[in-house]
Amino acid sequence: MRLLVVEDEKKVASFIKQGLEEESYAVDVASDGEEGLGMALDRVHDLIILDILLPKMDGLRILQELRREKVTTPVLLLTVRATIEDKVLGLDAGADDYLTKPFAFEELLARVRALLRRRAEAEPPVLQVADLTLDPARHVVARGGEKVELTPREFALLAYFMRNPGRVLTRTTISEHVWDYNFDTMTNVIDVYVNYLRKKIDAGREPKLIHTVRGVGYVLKGE
Ligand code: CA
Repeated sequence: MRLLVVEDEKKVASFIKQGLEEESYAVDVASDGEEGLGMALDRVHDLIILDILLPKMDGLRILQELRREKVTTPVLLLTVRATIEDKVLGLDAGADDYLTKPFAFEELLARVRALLRRRAEAEPPVLQVADLTLDPARHVVARGGEKVELTPREFALLAYFMRNPGRVLTRTTISEHVWDYNFDTMTNVIDVYVNYLRKKIDAGREPKLIHTVRGVGYVLKGE
């Protein structure tokens, strides 16, 4: 799980980052609104913690922009103002939850967990790309109705591809999501696993679903 924290107060940002990292989340921090919007538009995060008062662009505008661009990543708003009006404004703009500063880290963590859980539950029961299906709950993969046996790591990798159909995924993004960490030597490991997947999913079948984007990464798509 990879989280984005958009917060200009360095102390607050590092307090959140450190706490979440101790809970095994990967955390990116943006320290102004423009940077935050740019990073959020990359759609690599599972959740965004967004401060309202930010330099360059405020949190509510970022949120409106994200929803306009159809970025559906859950957003937890941080606000110092706790009036009903402000909360309504935030929720109307597309926030999934809000938290009033100052807050206890335990409360932030509880809300993060709840939002991530809700997102997992909102996912369609079976993911599908062309004639390839993946059932996360039953851990079953099939191509053309024929069951495909995968190792747990291959399954995690394919699930990540199928949650992001048509999106080019870099090796860095893949390693962060599927392995939960990132270092340069991972790139070979990812290539090896993508080849395993190809043999099981694409070999002898049409259309090919896993495509290499030279110099960038991989994309799963049906057409
Ligand atoms: Ca702020």
